[in-house]
Amino acid sequence: MSDDFPVGTVWLVGAGPGDPELLTRKAARLIGQASVVFHDALVGAGVLDLIHPAARAVHVGKRSGRHSKDQASIDRLIVEAALAGERVVRLKGGDPAIFGRVAEELDACRAAGIDARICPGVTAASAAAASLGASLTLRGLARKLTFITAHARAGEALDLDWAALADRQATLAIYMGKAAAPEVAEQLMAAELPGDTPVAMVENASLPHERVLRTRLDLLGLAACSGLGDGPALLLIGQAMARAEIRVGQVENPNSSRQQNVKLASRMIVPAITGRPRPDERFSEHHS
Ligand code: SAH
Repeated sequence: MSDDFPVGTVWLVGAGPGDPELLTRKAARLIGQASVVFHDALVGAGVLDLIHPAARAVHVGKRSGRHSKDQASIDRLIVEAALAGERVVRLKGGDPAIFGRVAEELDACRAAGIDARICPGVTAASAAAASLGASLTLRGLARKLTFITAHARAGEALDLDWAALADRQATLAIYMGKAAAPEVAEQLMAAELPGDTPVAMVENASLPHERVLRTRLDLLGLAACSGLGDGPALLLIGQAMARAEIRVGQVENPNSSRQQNVKLASRMIVPAITGRPRPDERFSEHHS
């Protein structure tokens, strides 16, 4: 057993975007050594398979609208397990230090005198860009990469610096942005980012049921509610996405008239969608 994981310590481990092959070797080792693993909803099944059969796996996941544990309870669980002499892994989707509430958990551990460390992971933006065969930065065209979250509390507007975000030389990687996509598009255009700015959305990046959608900023509102299911999705906006590749697939026939309109619009604006939408989720409301 490696000496970086004594009993009573905590590792905050990045599980990557879902594909177990995108896990770091260190993460795989730590997961296998843990006596208890507290994991999120977004951690892929293939990653959870690495948990030792004798260890406890505790789901503490949060998806919007379906909170299973609040942050303070999660902090407490981690601290109590470490104080009880467990080897604790807190497993989080992607990279734990990107929109992962890792600071709260580190603080809670430090306040209790527990040694806690971070093992980084492949973040969703990297996995999404890889799926698109695109680069997040481009010499001379996309000199800046901005990670933001567009998750707003129900009924509240997004509180973001739109003027700063509407940068023609940047790539915007938007986490938790599916539900807010229409507002994001509207605000960025109001701040003078051109309507023909390329946009890509990747749902379930790196997983077998991954789907990719490519559109442009002025059509994003429509596109976002047309072809994706209810999996986690990342939104990428900027000139670098002009090079995004779409490989296979098409939007299929919906039935009702509202859906018909969406379908027609989708045909025009979405060159293709990879993966095959399941009929039940094709035109449902989407929340990230
Ligand atoms: N720490 C994570 C992000 C957590 S926030 C990371 O570094 O990736 C959760 C959001 O991440 C989701 O709403 C979605 O926007 C994005 N996300 C996570 N996994 C994803 C995946 N496999 N494909 C697309 N987006 C993903």
